[in-house]
Amino acid sequence: MKKWMLFGLIVVAIAATVYFLFFREKTTWQKVDDNKPQVEVIKGLQTCPVCGYQAMKDDGTICLNCGKTISTQKAMEEGVSTNDLLMLEQLDYFSRDTVNLIVDLFGPKVTDKGYPKDPNWKPHPNVDAGQVNEFLRIRVDELPAVKKELADTTKNQ
Ligand SMILES: [Zn+2]
Repeated sequence: MKKWMLFGLIVVAIAATVYFLFFREKTTWQKVDDNKPQVEVIKGLQTCPVCGYQAMKDDGTICLNCGKTISTQKAMEEGVSTNDLLMLEQLDYFSRDTVNLIVDLFGPKVTDKGYPKDPNWKPHPNVDAGQVNEFLRIRVDELPAVKKELADTTKNQ
């Protein structure tokens, strides 16, 4: 082997090592739960205030996990404050798939699609497992009245 070829190989090897160590974001895999296969964790997105997953599109318009958006315009349309809108959207989100399940506001650590939960995220102060269960019991056709009642309760605190 000629000297320049060996030199070239060493340069390529060093470059590849540096690339893998410093520049390539490491792919991590995580299980949603014990019964599911591992999913590739998607990194670098903003935290959604509603579901707490790092799945908010870069422009902050919509969450790719829960599909919800919190804006002053939407709050105005609903006739509630943005704070109340956040609470209502959280109750709605966490009561979606929780029939006969234990409500877990902080899990799973990663969604089926691979969005990780932000460990620093906290639910709205009025939202806990008890409130979500209460919300579940309410029939859909009663929701508008209940929303108003919940919103009024928050205002008086
Ligand atoms: Zn979300």
